[in-house]
Amino acid sequence: MVVKLDHIGIAVSDLAESLKVYTDMLGLELHGTETVEEQKVKTAFLPVGDTEIELLQTTAPDGPIGKFIEAKGQGIQHIAFKVEDIEAALAELKAKGVRLIDEKPRYGAGGARIAFLHPKATGGVLIELCQKD
Ligand code: ZN
Repeated sequence: MVVKLDHIGIAVSDLAESLKVYTDMLGLELHGTETVEEQKVKTAFLPVGDTEIELLQTTAPDGPIGKFIEAKGQGIQHIAFKVEDIEAALAELKAKGVRLIDEKPRYGAGGARIAFLHPKATGGVLIELCQKD
């Protein structure tokens, strides 16, 4: 089902400040930023080898990243696996009785189609599936 680790999502309070860690400190290159209104989030992607770091800053206190930081502080928020066919992957997981946050794919940064599995079904890890065509 899963093809590769697509990216690691990190919740940050201040995108510009956190970008310095990955660019100035670690030498990664910023691939681009995008605001996803539906998720109330501003994202920045930094490719590293075959995967990417995704920094996420909330655009509203009641957004998922705002709530995450309020509860847990900054840090790794989710890991994302690339799948070839997200509809098929969700159907397969549903058939296995896996609890999902998203029964249907939604729009993610970079035009990807994404869906989250419920952390209660994965041992506490928020797992995102993403399909990039
Ligand atoms: Zn993500």
